Amino acid sequence: MTGCPRHIALTLAGLAITAPSLWSQEPRAADGVRRAREAMVALIASRGVKDSATLAALRAVPRHEFVPADYRNEAYADHPLPIGHGQTISQPYIVGYMTELARPRAGMKVLEVGTGSGYQAAILSRIGCEVYTIEIFDALATSARDRLKRLGYAATVRQGDGHFGWPEQAPFDAILVTAAAGYIPPALVEQLKPGGRMLIPVGNVYGVQNLILITKNARGEASTRTLLPVRFVPLLRAPAR
Ligand code: SAH
Repeated sequence: MTGCPRHIALTLAGLAITAPSLWSQEPRAADGVRRAREAMVALIASRGVKDSATLAALRAVPRHEFVPADYRNEAYADHPLPIGHGQTISQPYIVGYMTELARPRAGMKVLEVGTGSGYQAAILSRIGCEVYTIEIFDALATSARDRLKRLGYAATVRQGDGHFGWPEQAPFDAILVTAAAGYIPPALVEQLKPGGRMLIPVGNVYGVQNLILITKNARGEASTRTLLPVRFVPLLRAPAR
């Protein structure tokens, strides 16, 4: 295993911020939420995420709106949380790390595979990207679409198997795969623009994977770099029809 195993320990050891009254509409409660979010961003920055657009988006997007009500008091802790269907919203540090490495900027066309709660899509949308996101579970795709709309984040969500990307909208400036793959799906590499960047966890889908950065040069040649060990839920296969 290459990279820095510290990140796995940190995933498990997250800092829980517990204050049941944080979520009411009272002005003092809203201050508490802001402080909790600020502490989350400070932690992410202290671990090395520097990109100002990424940090500003993490500071702006209300993560507590993306977690089930039962977990709201942990919304700003640095660990993944269950979102139903055996799936999770990713650890905030990893969201920040992947976002920074994708180098998203306003106006870029970005594909996300693994919509989940819609949080990563909201971060990209807040940066000003044109976001397309695919989710394999119908119920999660529907709830993420409704949530993003309610909160005012523009992102196009569709149900489907992200192994095949989104050919009708390709090519993309950046692709973020937020579920673990056993291999790099060729369709996704094909759908990356020259100069584009893709992040994908690859390895043992029920264990540890390596986060891989794939860059395409101006001639369209792809190269890969291994970043750090991570644990994502598996990238599933759609059942045969
Ligand atoms: N990015 C999400 C968290 C991702 S968890 C967030 O911000 O909340 C991984 C998600 O990938 C899960 O919701 C899972 O259902 C979805 N998924 C798994 N296999 C998939 C596939 N083949 N295509 C699209 N989505 C998939």
